[in-house]
Amino acid sequence: MYLVFDIGGTNIRIGVSSDTQSLTTTKSVLTMQNFEEGIEAIKNIAQVLSGGEQIQAVAGGIAGLLDKDKTMLIASAHISGWINKPLKNKLEEVFGVPTKLENDSLLGGLGEAVYGAGRGTNIVAYIAVGTGVGGARFVDGKIDQNSLGFEPGHQIIDLDGNECNCGGKGHLETYVGGFYLEKKYHKRAEEITDHKVWDEAAKYLAIGLNNTIVHWSPDIVILGGSVANKIPLDATQRYLSQFLTIFPTKPTLVKAQLDYPGLYGALELIKS
Ligand SMILES: [Zn+2]
Repeated sequence: MYLVFDIGGTNIRIGVSSDTQSLTTTKSVLTMQNFEEGIEAIKNIAQVLSGGEQIQAVAGGIAGLLDKDKTMLIASAHISGWINKPLKNKLEEVFGVPTKLENDSLLGGLGEAVYGAGRGTNIVAYIAVGTGVGGARFVDGKIDQNSLGFEPGHQIIDLDGNECNCGGKGHLETYVGGFYLEKKYHKRAEEITDHKVWDEAAKYLAIGLNNTIVHWSPDIVILGGSVANKIPLDATQRYLSQFLTIFPTKPTLVKAQLDYPGLYGALELIKS
C-alpha cells in the first residue's frame, strides 16, 4: 500500500493506493492548526484506509513554501502552526518508510497534468484557486525546473491594492482566493451567490491568467481548486480574450477534472 496526502489551508485529504496508478480509498478532514494533532490524524486515518496493511512509501503536498531539502514548511499564509515543524521526519518515524514532500499546488497541478485535463499536452499551466491561489508550470508531464517554486497567486494586480497575508499588496489571491472573499463578504466563498461578485473575480483572475500566459507560454491552462468552481469559465474566457492581445492563438482554458488532483500528483511523486 502507498499512502498519499494533501494538506491544504482548509482540508487534509488522505488516500491509499495499491498500485501507484489509482486511489483505492480516500478521506477528508478539516485541517488542524496544531502540527501534532495533524500528524496524529494522518496516522489514524492511514491505519483505517490501509486496513492495517504495510505502507511501502508516503508522499504528499502541503500548502506553502518548503525548505530547500523539502522536509518541512517554512512559510504559509494559512497553516502557520505547521511552519518549521519536521513533517518529513515525523512521517518517516510514524510509518517507517521514505516520505516525499512537495508544495500542494505543485502536486495538484502534476496530478492534473498527468492524469487529468492536461493528459497528452506538452506545456501545462495549472492555477489553483482555493483558500489562496497557487499554481505551477509543467512540461512533458513533469514539474518544470524552478529556483524558488512558483507563486502565481502573489503576482501584483494592483500596487495599492488589498493587503496579502504574505506581507505584500494587491496580490492576485487577495481578489479571488476564498480566504479574502470570506473576509470581504462575511460568508464562505462557496456560499456567495451574487453573480456580480463572481464576475468581478473572473475579471481579476483573467488579469492573473494573462500575466501567467505571457510568461509561461502554455498549450493549456487548467483551473483547479474549490473556489475556481464558483468562478464562471465563460466570463473568465471573455475577459482573458480582451486582455491577452499579443498572441494570435490563445491557449485552451479548462477546468480541472480530478476530484483529488493533489493525491494523484503525490502518486506521481512516489513513482519519480
Ligand atoms: Zn501575497
